Amino acid sequence: MTIQSPDSLWQAAHSVDARRPRSRQTKIGASDTVCARRAGYLLHGRLPTDGGDKRRAILGTWLHAGILEAARKEYGWLVERSVEDATIRGHIDAVQLDAATASRLPKRMRPAHPAEATTVEDVKTKSTYQWDRILRFGATDAEIRQVLLYADLLSTEGFADVEGQRRLARLGPIPVGRIRFRFINRDGGDEYVQEMPFTTERARGARWWVDQVRAARSPEDLARTFPGPGLSAVCDNCPFKTACWGPVVAGRRPQSVALHDDAEREKALDEYAKVSRQIAPLKERLKVLRAQLDGSEAGVYGSHRLSWSGGNPTKVDDVTAMVELFERADVPVPKTPDVAWMKAKLKEAGIPVPVRLDRERRTAVGINVTPNQS
Ligand code: SF4
Repeated sequence: MTIQSPDSLWQAAHSVDARRPRSRQTKIGASDTVCARRAGYLLHGRLPTDGGDKRRAILGTWLHAGILEAARKEYGWLVERSVEDATIRGHIDAVQLDAATASRLPKRMRPAHPAEATTVEDVKTKSTYQWDRILRFGATDAEIRQVLLYADLLSTEGFADVEGQRRLARLGPIPVGRIRFRFINRDGGDEYVQEMPFTTERARGARWWVDQVRAARSPEDLARTFPGPGLSAVCDNCPFKTACWGPVVAGRRPQSVALHDDAEREKALDEYAKVSRQIAPLKERLKVLRAQLDGSEAGVYGSHRLSWSGGNPTKVDDVTAMVELFERADVPVPKTPDVAWMKAKLKEAGIPVPVRLDRERRTAVGINVTPNQS
């Protein structure tokens, strides 16, 4: 029997991903605390309304598993460990115990090098496209909230008493000293580490956020944390996109559901005009600064790195080469009307160039906001 090689393995990867255990939850997962509305949908047991392309997420999961396995084998880090209390649960990527805590474990479970302070680490894989933002701003508020919740659960409850980590659970609450983010560039392998001390005060904000989500009567009572499809990659890939913004309406952006009446339109227009006035001088200043920097050598200047992109010749169809290839292959060269030549001839003769409306393609809709003089 011949087994046919499939064109793509992504079908298999998506099927395996869809079968990964996902709990029907009464508790919020710490990793679900990205968006308040989305956490609400999960907590209220709503079924996802959107599928979508998960290739990047799947690649991230595979890379993640490989990195953590290497850390477990080589450094003895505790990886993929569960934590939970009555309202929230999570899987910590890695915990590095300090010497005092490690000494309470059997020798075979101790890390090769204990940490100065017990550290809760989260590994995040990012694309090159996101890398610059990571280096500038580090972890997002949502990412920090997630790891603060893990650390808080570990420091108040300890490791969850579940199969595979009963011995760890017997340690009880673990005093956590710091949290750490390890960002890995999934295109080039670069690594960037960000650390911050862990304190109960820091975790309080994250706990308050979870309490607000739990207190809401319905997901729709919760704020949308992100601005919506087309404006946020989180929303573009959200499994509750349609539940949140409604079905796609041709010619209308999803965000238009946010305005319900003329009073809200008036408020939005006022803000639009105000923001336009505020950014106009900044745009002008940027243009001047860009012009001044023109021709400067790429490199590091103080706290910024300057680099240049683009400026390459663009590719255009080489019709002559195409014709030669066709002739060499004895394939008839298509004789299509030369639109540019005909337009030039019509113009020369003073005859208007005929046009027709293409109802499939639309010009971009521009917005004009001017002061009302009446
Ligand atoms: S679509 Fe965006 S705002 Fe709505 S639930 Fe999903 S992530 Fe949140």
